[in-house]
Amino acid sequence: MRAYEITAPVEVLTGASAARAKVALFDFDGTLSLIRAGWIDVMVPMMVEALANLHTGESEAELTAVVRDFVDRLTGKQTVYQMIELSRQIALRGGAPHDPIVYKKRYLDLLHARISNRLEELRQNPSSVEKYMVPGSLELLEALRLRGLTLYLASGTDQDYMRAEADLLGVTPFFNGGVFGALDDYKSFSKKMLIERIIAGAECSGSEILGFGDGYVEIENVKAVGGVAVGVASDELECLKVDVWKRDRLASVGADYIVPNYLSRAALFERLFAL
Ligand SMILES: [Mg+2]
Repeated sequence: MRAYEITAPVEVLTGASAARAKVALFDFDGTLSLIRAGWIDVMVPMMVEALANLHTGESEAELTAVVRDFVDRLTGKQTVYQMIELSRQIALRGGAPHDPIVYKKRYLDLLHARISNRLEELRQNPSSVEKYMVPGSLELLEALRLRGLTLYLASGTDQDYMRAEADLLGVTPFFNGGVFGALDDYKSFSKKMLIERIIAGAECSGSEILGFGDGYVEIENVKAVGGVAVGVASDELECLKVDVWKRDRLASVGADYIVPNYLSRAALFERLFAL
């Protein structure tokens, strides 16, 4: 059990109201799930190594800055987009890149080696669920459903994996709108497309969408249609403090609120749903 005494405050950036929200759209990794926490420390070194092998004279620090920047900018999109950019960066440096799918497989093999023990722990011991979720997630989802919002879960992680992980964490039943992840045909699904589908289906207007995410892309997508966005900037795995680097990135793309977790749900709801 984690100690829950520390409840970091809600940072109010715009104070936008979500009192009319009908739909809540959630990202999965880093927003609810911590199963893949540390993925960036797998992806970035793998990519830096691929670029360093081209011997362009750039230092490791320079390559790390390049990689970190595009990985972050594309976080929230399907994983393959980060690999497409890696291929482009290799080509820019005169290299002959593999198909982006090859890099994606390499990354997932490395990541799965790192997280397989977490998945096993969750299968063996369902009470370990709390350890692998942003604190307060279940209570938040429950409270949003009680308010009558329709909940959607949309992830850039491959759908088969993320659905299995959502089941392991016990969050699937909250998502009465559906659970969506990346498909092999990566052009057939995106968070942006899901938002467009929700609006086109007349379920609600863009301004009636409330988004929760730790990635650039989902915050940008929700703001682009006039919705309200809560940026989750956690210092994973503990998730008790705001990670300043993530906070600044999410604020720069238009997040209306920043939280490190959902333990201050009462304070957040007061701001979000005040009329
Ligand atoms: Mg995420």
